[in-house]
Amino acid sequence: MKTFDFVVIGGGPGGYVAAIRASQLGLKAALIEERATLGGTCLNVGCIPSKVLLEASEVFHSMNHKYQGLGISVSSVKLDLKRMMANKDRVVSKITEGVDLLMKKHKIARFKGRGRLTGGRIVAIEGENETTEIEGGKIVLAMGSVPFELPSIPFDGRSIISSTEALSLKTVPRRMVVVGAGAIGLELGSVWSRLGSSVTVVELFPKVAIFADNMLSRMLEKSLREQGIDFLLSSRVVGAKKKKGGIEVAVTSEKDGDATLTCDKLLVAVGRKPATLDCGLEAAKVALEQDGRVRVDDSWRTTAEGIFAIGDLIRGPMLAHKAEEEGIAVAELAAGRSGHVNYDVIPNVIYTWPELAQVGITEEEAKERKIPVKVGRNYFKANGRAKTLGEEDGVVKVIAHKETDLILGVHILGPRASDMIAEAAMAMEFSGSSEDMARTCHAHPTLSEALKEAALAVDRRAIHG
Ligand code: FAD
Repeated sequence: MKTFDFVVIGGGPGGYVAAIRASQLGLKAALIEERATLGGTCLNVGCIPSKVLLEASEVFHSMNHKYQGLGISVSSVKLDLKRMMANKDRVVSKITEGVDLLMKKHKIARFKGRGRLTGGRIVAIEGENETTEIEGGKIVLAMGSVPFELPSIPFDGRSIISSTEALSLKTVPRRMVVVGAGAIGLELGSVWSRLGSSVTVVELFPKVAIFADNMLSRMLEKSLREQGIDFLLSSRVVGAKKKKGGIEVAVTSEKDGDATLTCDKLLVAVGRKPATLDCGLEAAKVALEQDGRVRVDDSWRTTAEGIFAIGDLIRGPMLAHKAEEEGIAVAELAAGRSGHVNYDVIPNVIYTWPELAQVGITEEEAKERKIPVKVGRNYFKANGRAKTLGEEDGVVKVIAHKETDLILGVHILGPRASDMIAEAAMAMEFSGSSEDMARTCHAHPTLSEALKEAALAVDRRAIHG
């Protein structure tokens, strides 16, 4: 039996990053992945393909709705969905092949097949033709997650679909109902709405993007409504029937009563569940939490000696960069170093247009936790660069501690908020204050000046706005 210092099950952003870091630190590493390509959900059916489609559909939408305002007349804009999908597949192939190259570069042994714990630190890998067993000094579980299925409307892969199918539709559905106004529902709802679908999003909570600051959530909802997406909030999908003219979706709402929506595609995007089935967790005595995630302590140790777990499989937000940070931390621990993840500073982004990005706590959370805060805001309509881009929708909100001035949260709704949030995360990681951010010289004209102005506004001394 082959033995390794560090065996990872699951080749997503948590797993493959852990394997690379372990190898960098001199550990003999192996990576087991059952999918033909590496990169997990994120690279194959998540972050990357969704962003390719968001980018392409945004250009398409801008050509039809925005460019004229910039003085560019565009005629006969046509959608070539087949090519758009082919481009998405090309990007996914390139990026997953890149991960393969990284495995070779770092001399990581790659095993294709399903990994199953058999007890102790032995993993059986069920390949196409044979089952191999390998042993690991340390084992990292990084099997990620799968779409959550609503029992009342099970997926059929054709008309009642998950995000995976919604990333590869062959035609633009005339009408789409999306269940769930989280990141995935809003992003994929945006893609198909921009490409011509009539989209209705049904959400159980009274707001879109439940984790977001209330004010930014309302602004995002308004902006998406203006783009043509309809919302039924505080509403629940209770069933769906396939009929000749489409799918009839039954919705109940305490406020608005019952309704029936008809659509061609019903996208269920109500979250994801950890991939814990059929991988030998019981045999290895790896315990689960009540919510089904793998139980870990502060050092990502499961209840089984020498077995760690990271990423979507464990508590915390289901985000690729969170999984990566945990992957790095467990590899460092396994190599005898100290590994750490600062869970207070994990940015969260929804790549709609405008984008919504946040790090740290919201104003509402501060109130709930009785943390005294002061808040500064700056609207993009007061930002020169936003005006040049024709993108004045949105706001930056900086939340600082009332006494210490430490930045506790930053919330951005606006163009390229996804890139701008990194500055806020960096400031928070370095225990920065709103004063630090306000006194940092920002290039002009840039969108990031809105961050500086919002930081200035914390002490009521914004120059613009
Ligand atoms: P995964 O990426 O799920 O990888 C787990 C891997 O393990 C999979 O490849 C699976 O095949 C493999 N596996 C499972 N069981 C076994 C087994 N027994 N043996 C062998 N292999 C196994 N996150 C962001 O941060 N930003 C985004 O923009 C973003 N967009 C998203 C868009 C969509 C449509 C979706 C669905 C998700 C998105 N996410 C995004 C979430 C992100 O994809 C996940 O948080 C991330 O992939 C989790 O990484 P992971 O390594 O924990 O697991």
